[in-house]
Amino acid sequence: MRVFNFSAGPAALPEEVLRQAADEMLDWHGSGMSVMEMSHRGKEFMSIHEEALVDLRELLAVPSSHQILFLQGGGLGENAIVPMNLFGTKPRADFVLTGSWSQKSFNEAKKYGTVHLAASGQTADGFTRAPAHAEWQLSADPAYVHLCTNETIHGVETFDIPDLGDIPLVADASSHLLSRPMDVAKYGVLFGGAQKNIGIAGVTVVIVREDLLDRAMSVCPSAFEWKTVALNNSMYNTPPTYAIYIAGLVFKWLKKQGGLRAIEARNVEKAKLLYDTIDAGSFYKNKVERGARSRMNIPFFLADESRNDDFLAGAKARGLVQLKGHKSVGGMRASIYNAVALDGVKALVEYMKEFERRGA
Ligand SMILES: *Cc1c(COP(=O)(O)O)cnc(C)c1O
Repeated sequence: MRVFNFSAGPAALPEEVLRQAADEMLDWHGSGMSVMEMSHRGKEFMSIHEEALVDLRELLAVPSSHQILFLQGGGLGENAIVPMNLFGTKPRADFVLTGSWSQKSFNEAKKYGTVHLAASGQTADGFTRAPAHAEWQLSADPAYVHLCTNETIHGVETFDIPDLGDIPLVADASSHLLSRPMDVAKYGVLFGGAQKNIGIAGVTVVIVREDLLDRAMSVCPSAFEWKTVALNNSMYNTPPTYAIYIAGLVFKWLKKQGGLRAIEARNVEKAKLLYDTIDAGSFYKNKVERGARSRMNIPFFLADESRNDDFLAGAKARGLVQLKGHKSVGGMRASIYNAVALDGVKALVEYMKEFERRGA
């Protein structure tokens, strides 16, 4: 029996995708071998790679001004790879801090240049808001501005993305990329590890505006230099082939679901159901400002925290798993990525209501 999996990542995948991968495991399309056993330069894998690129470009409406790269290193790897690729002429960047992940990016970038805190969403309750663009105090001439558009641990999502003109906006979208349409033209760089909402761990999607490919520091490793990777169609070194294949299956699944507008409508409905349940009384609490509440990662706290273990044990007995909040914030967290269907969220809120009734 499959559980309802609310993991923050690696996370739930669409069952259809897993079934197809299982069917194709030993013999991909008559090739007589698994995708894992293919040369990345052979025509079979090249076709998988090319289709994944085409489907992703179509899904996210990536304009021709931007290249799509498949890298390794994950979201945290990009925290070093981004400054190394953009600090070539001016080693300084501005950061908008909205939670732990942007805090990590800020600290990592310090190794390569000067960092400036442009805005912070930290309050007495922790990271609970997404500072509006009017609050951002940008420095005179930064190489880029970094923003984590969905903070996975604190559950803070930024919906209002400014157009910064000449200043490249770099966004870590690891935990909500493909959860809704995004105006890619507003970003200089948009990146995300796959294991949250795109596929499995191992591949990092990096979408970069072409004019930014010439700004790397000389110390940047060639395998992570976007220009080198772009010139080699993400095959400068061996790409994470199986992770690209799974992401490709997820892209096809998303297209079958009706694309990102349709998925967004479902994600809005799922998140509303859960937030409404949390807000209905004082038994549960979410501390994030209404306009900045993430649709993907929803932290919540019991008013009586001594009952946390009880809550988690009861949930597990019903097949509702991985609900424990991140250790740095405590409480609970439900990650409801694209692959978590409405029936999973319904099962969760029914359990929450029942637990509340029992406890009252
Ligand atoms: C998970 C996550 C990361 C880290 O990803 P890794 O693949 O573990 O390096 C970075 N940023 C955000 C927003 C994340 O959710």
